[in-house]
Amino acid sequence: MSVRDMVEKDYYAALGVPKDASATDIKKAYRGLARELHPDKNPGDAKAEARFKEVSEAYDVLSDEGRRREYDEARALFAAGGRPGGGFGGPGRAGGYGGFGAPGTGYGSGPNLNLDDLLGGANGGLGGIFDNLFQRSSPGRGPRRGADIEAEVTIPFEKSLTGLEASVRLPGAATCTTCTGSGARPGTTPRTCPTCRGLGVVSRSQGGFALSEPCRDCLGKGTLIDHPCPDCRGTGRREREQRIRIPAGVSDGQRLRVRGRGIPGERGGPGGDLEVTVHVLRHPVFEREGSNLAITLPVTITEAALGASIRVPTLDGAPLTMKVPAGTSSGRRLRARGRGVPTAGGGNGDLIVTLEVTVPKPSDLSPRARTALLEFAQAHPEDPRAPLMERMEAGG
Ligand SMILES: [Zn+2]
Ligand SMILES: [Zn+2]
Repeated sequence: MSVRDMVEKDYYAALGVPKDASATDIKKAYRGLARELHPDKNPGDAKAEARFKEVSEAYDVLSDEGRRREYDEARALFAAGGRPGGGFGGPGRAGGYGGFGAPGTGYGSGPNLNLDDLLGGANGGLGGIFDNLFQRSSPGRGPRRGADIEAEVTIPFEKSLTGLEASVRLPGAATCTTCTGSGARPGTTPRTCPTCRGLGVVSRSQGGFALSEPCRDCLGKGTLIDHPCPDCRGTGRREREQRIRIPAGVSDGQRLRVRGRGIPGERGGPGGDLEVTVHVLRHPVFEREGSNLAITLPVTITEAALGASIRVPTLDGAPLTMKVPAGTSSGRRLRARGRGVPTAGGGNGDLIVTLEVTVPKPSDLSPRARTALLEFAQAHPEDPRAPLMERMEAGG
């Protein structure tokens, strides 16, 4: 069974059974289909013959507990690697995985998936997993690039404006120093897997072809560890703390890629990349609007009516003094140029201040203030709805 077979063919569908079908159900389904499709019963029917082969192949894998597990795992990995909108897909890309499959075939496992992109390429991601599974300890293999790692970091809102150096913990990103990565307790050595004689793969003949598949005893590693290293429990890897520079102006959800700081490469190969997703915490007062910083600021009815100088808090130093023009209505926006978020181009966005006219609650009004308001109403008997009413009448 090749990798392509594992991930391309739906053996469950071929037998018409659910993924969690029992061994008995699989056997029953196969027997029924085999009887129905048998070439003796359908002489000269090419379609039935093809189906018969398909069903036999599916049963071959699903009836063997070990192979069924391997198949399920490979399919699950493939499904996990298939993110929507990946941008790849469509038939006709050349087969890129050394030795497996025919070139120039399309793989129709989903609209945005291409098996070659996952399996081939620079040994990153899922390709790296299969690469590991199949060829990690093959003799004569050259340097191998390490896998990419994803990490997340959460920073305060203020820090997103200034940038900072943050530290992320990366499980498995460092080689264990106790066992120097072998995974074996110091003083012991991993032993060569007798099943595959250290190759990590075993050959099997199927339909006249010699196929390679990962060794099940050593899981493709070529070695077995009898006494695991106590510090890494046999993995050969430990946590690494990585400092990363988060640039000023970073926005919530932004991803930063640090080349070469993922899992270290093997045999002198380059390290994988580290991809860090930055989460920016919300600020109680300020908000981001692209490269602008936004704040809503209350003003009194007299400040709005008569104009005023107001103090506006900032995140980058002393408060600003801004002028509220006389005759300001709620929702008016003031702008302080260059006092917003640093941009990639080296500039700065603006600080946008939205003014909100607050009306005092009756309970907050002193008798004197109340009298003053009544006097104001008498001195300024306007009807602000009059223009609207006029427009209604003109329109009706
Ligand atoms: Zn160790
Ligand atoms: Zn082995």
